[in-house]
Amino acid sequence: MSTFSEAYELKEELGRGAFSIVKRCVRLHDGVHLAAKIVNIQKLSSRERQKLEREARICKLLKHPNIVYLHEVLIDNGFHYMIFDLVTGGELFDEVVAREFYSEKDASRCMQEVLNSIQFCHHNCIVHRDLKPENLLLSSKSKDAVTKLADFGLAVELNDPNQVEWFGYAGTPGYLSPEVVNKEKYGKAIDMWACGVILYILLVGYPPFWHDDQKKLYQQIKTAKYDFPSPEWDTVSQDAKNLIKIMLELDPSQRITAEDALRHPWITKRESLVPGFHRQNTINGIKKFLLRRKFKAAIHTTMFTHRFSKKTSDPNIQSPITPMNNERTLGDSGNSSSSIVTTTETAATVSSYTTPPDQSRIEPASCSSYNNDVIIELTKTLSKAMAQHDLATFQELCDINITCFDHKVGPVLLQGQDYHTYQFNSTMKRSDNILVVNPNVQMLGSEVACISYNRILQSVVTSASYCVESHCDTMVWKQTRNGWKCVHYHTT
Ligand code: ADP
Ligand code: MG
Repeated sequence: MSTFSEAYELKEELGRGAFSIVKRCVRLHDGVHLAAKIVNIQKLSSRERQKLEREARICKLLKHPNIVYLHEVLIDNGFHYMIFDLVTGGELFDEVVAREFYSEKDASRCMQEVLNSIQFCHHNCIVHRDLKPENLLLSSKSKDAVTKLADFGLAVELNDPNQVEWFGYAGTPGYLSPEVVNKEKYGKAIDMWACGVILYILLVGYPPFWHDDQKKLYQQIKTAKYDFPSPEWDTVSQDAKNLIKIMLELDPSQRITAEDALRHPWITKRESLVPGFHRQNTINGIKKFLLRRKFKAAIHTTMFTHRFSKKTSDPNIQSPITPMNNERTLGDSGNSSSSIVTTTETAATVSSYTTPPDQSRIEPASCSSYNNDVIIELTKTLSKAMAQHDLATFQELCDINITCFDHKVGPVLLQGQDYHTYQFNSTMKRSDNILVVNPNVQMLGSEVACISYNRILQSVVTSASYCVESHCDTMVWKQTRNGWKCVHYHTT
């Protein structure tokens, strides 16, 4: 088998995800244009590699007209390439807002295609877990383009179609089902809940559950608290509302299945039952919804790039795998209750250094690798600030009530930033070089991280001599509204 570089030529970037970068590529032997989803596997943990293998295994299984088709998987020079059919129509919602005419009938057609893809996944014992507009792509720019479900990065395999299990906390906040939010066992019904959210947006342009405060958002989801406000819902058919109600059913065992949804009159009797008048306000609403999402994504990408950008060894790819990602990883996706967080709604892509906004994608395993990198970077920055007496950075990164054990001071618990201010101004020696080595990060839930590492300091004593010290340190970081803050520091 030839390597990726022998068989394909890479072209421009098409999109980015949590861990991946997607580029157009040309298959050299026949000139066909395809899409390569590229992941740098050099720094991935074995668990993350397994997830990648899981994604490839699932995509290979799913050959369906409404699912992005995977041709082959190649591993070449530390990079994992999944070669998909190239879809050129962009995201479904981007296309909807570009339309001059959009009716409930159009929404019904879109939903039918989404349901077809979901039914096929469920029939093959696959739960997608990250159904959202960003993962609904259009095959081409032509009028008869079909919707293709993409991104099986979070998808899981069931032993039987009705299996329910705790597969970990994963998804994107606004689309999470109550059972996931409640950390209960779940199965394919979570995809149907997400379909309900998407259908709601397709009809009026805004989501059923929405709050800037993630806790309040989750409260709405747990109680299925949504409504059909006037006047925009007055013009939506009763059948559409009825379908949404049985998709957004709190009890997963009572929630409609993809198969039954495909038999719902709003889908099957579209021509006679579903209103065909133009819904300009829905288009305007979706435009605002997209703008808000893209704006947040841009802020987070910028923030992320500035603070954490890293070079990879492949000149074609700049940080394909966001150090964290958007999200990813926390703990064990199988049974950990930890997890979370990430970025913006689009998020799957970028992560949030500060508290993630509401609609980010969550994936236990990925969050954690992302978080690990963030915590290591922050620890390096803080250690450097301490070594160089950079009080502003120190104060920015430390909780005001930080506690500290420092062997130089004795066996007493020191508290508050004032102690460090004092140290900076008096006793502490300035170091010229500082190195953080062997960092080991453990996430304690989604919002607390404990990092232990060795710190090596080099200070110039005279122009001819310098001294080197080595310490064993521990820092505890907590995620707050203003980003991660160090709440405890222990140094030997
Ligand atoms: P991730 O799992 O990292 O989120 P995705 O599979 O969602 O990655 O891909 C990231 C982005 O790349 C998508 O949102 C889309 O814009 C683009 N993309 C993915 N697959 C294709 C494809 N087959 N053709 C064209 N663009 C694609
Ligand atoms: Mg994606």
